[in-house]
Amino acid sequence: MTALSFVPVSSGGPWNTYLTQVERVLPYLGPLSRWAETLRRPKRALVVDVPIEMDDGSIRHFEGFRVQHNLSRGPGKGGVRFHPAVTLEEVMALAAWMTVKNAAVNLPYGGAKGGVRVDPRELSRRELEKVTRRYTSEIGLIIGPDKDIPAPDVNTNGQIMAWMMDTYSMNVGAASTGVVTGKPIALGGSLGRVKATGRGVFVIGREIARRLQMQIAGSRVAIQGFGNVGSAAAELFAGNGAKIVAVQDHTGSIANPAGIDIATLVATAQRDGGVAGCPGAERIDDEAFWDAPCEFLVPAALEGQLTAERARRVQTRVVLEGANGPTPPDADDVLAERGITVVPDVICNAGGVTVSYFEWVQDLQSFFWSEDEINVRLERILADAFRRIWETAQEHHIPLRTAAFVVACTRILAAREERGLYP
Ligand code: NAD
Repeated sequence: MTALSFVPVSSGGPWNTYLTQVERVLPYLGPLSRWAETLRRPKRALVVDVPIEMDDGSIRHFEGFRVQHNLSRGPGKGGVRFHPAVTLEEVMALAAWMTVKNAAVNLPYGGAKGGVRVDPRELSRRELEKVTRRYTSEIGLIIGPDKDIPAPDVNTNGQIMAWMMDTYSMNVGAASTGVVTGKPIALGGSLGRVKATGRGVFVIGREIARRLQMQIAGSRVAIQGFGNVGSAAAELFAGNGAKIVAVQDHTGSIANPAGIDIATLVATAQRDGGVAGCPGAERIDDEAFWDAPCEFLVPAALEGQLTAERARRVQTRVVLEGANGPTPPDADDVLAERGITVVPDVICNAGGVTVSYFEWVQDLQSFFWSEDEINVRLERILADAFRRIWETAQEHHIPLRTAAFVVACTRILAAREERGLYP
């Protein structure tokens, strides 16, 4: 594997997880594998200083990043994360997974990601706006509707996208709705975007259930992370007759083998900012969350959560990766040995970027679709992409993750080869 000199990389960290996933796909790429090094290097990585004046008059500096991993198939696309643990390494891995995801679903994008190393819970709204605007200005060099289009990720939302759109528009001197997706509807946002990633997790869950002769109704679901992705997925599973038996977020873990009432859960998370105090569920130890018997386990928080040690204990049939990179390669191997099917992030959570693509198309056309049209198109695109990945896995007798990488990396490297190397 290639060591990049400009970034310290942790041995069990997300970039090495990604590199191992790339190694596993190489035997299936045929002559295109001569371009493999393209996958192991981000095309461009920008590190920016984000200084702001705090409400108390002090000055603080935050580190910001935007990485464009690969632009062979189109402009960059990927979220922006605000989190105190954000590093360049993490953003590189997340950008690389976006390259693979966009190609796996056949969206006309490359892969990118951004982040600011900040705990937004410690900032006032004014300070959060300043961080967002200064960060956007600093990365304004490389983003744009035909260059790289950010979107929400952990701890960022429609309001932050609105500030990003406004800042970029002020800097270029024209209203530019297509520069970010996940915007509020009044600013050219798309119906269905907020819940699209969770909807995608559910749609893919239904697809895999059909192939494994499982039923959604009556099945048990355990979810880690009850933010944008986890809560929307939980609502759809519950709405289709599944039982949410265990939930964990940063405030704690809860369980009820008979099923947690979804409306109470959503209301608690909205009121308290977390699920720990949800009535009608028992508070459990955080580690005990991974022991909850279920048919579907949905990691929807951060990367690296489903460790090999936890993989040996989980009592599930299917893992639906709502989060990006929740399962390191050694855990993948444990789950495979145990006969547990892992549906990888690059297809399972692709609903968000798919509706982001719809939003961008609608913005460029200034012509907007109904929510029904959006959901029908979303389900069709995801189901078609999943079918292709499933068939590839069957054909080569490989896990779904490697199959998704085969489909995606073939598209990425074929584009690379056809474009040729500049100059
Ligand atoms: P979010 O900020 O809305 O929610 C994150 C959730 O994770 C919260 O419930 C938080 O409490 C929980 N969490 C954080 N740290 C935790 C910990 N140590 N243990 C347990 N729970 C913890 O973020 P989101 O947008 O829902 O993103 C969640 C995951 O899904 C991320 O991996 C993200 O990259 C991925 N994802 C998001 C989108 C999207 O459209 N938002 C799209 C694709 C993938």
